Amino acid sequence: MSRHIHLSLDIRGAIHNRDGWKSVSATDGRKLTKAEAVEWLMDRLAEGKRVLPFGPCEGFDFQKGCPGHEDPDSDAIDTALTGTGGTRDGR
Ligand SMILES: [Zn+2]
Repeated sequence: MSRHIHLSLDIRGAIHNRDGWKSVSATDGRKLTKAEAVEWLMDRLAEGKRVLPFGPCEGFDFQKGCPGHEDPDSDAIDTALTGTGGTRDGR
C-alpha cells in the first residue's frame, strides 16, 4: 500500500516570493494583479489559515496541509510528494 500527499501553498512564503510570480489567475480564470492576489492571500491569513490546497484534498488542514491518503489498490513502494509552494526556506 502506498500513500500520497497533496501539495499545499504556504501563504506567507507565497507573499514573500511575489516578485517571482509571472501571472496570477482566480479560480474562474480571471487574471489578477499582484496587488489583488496579495490582498486575497492576506485575507486568508486573517482567517487564520497558514496553507492552502492546490486542488481537492479530503481532510485538508489549513495549518498543516494534506493529511495524507492511503492508496489501498496500489502495491507501489511507499512514496510521498511533499512541498509547500512559494517558499524557499520551508516556512
Ligand atoms: Zn490530500
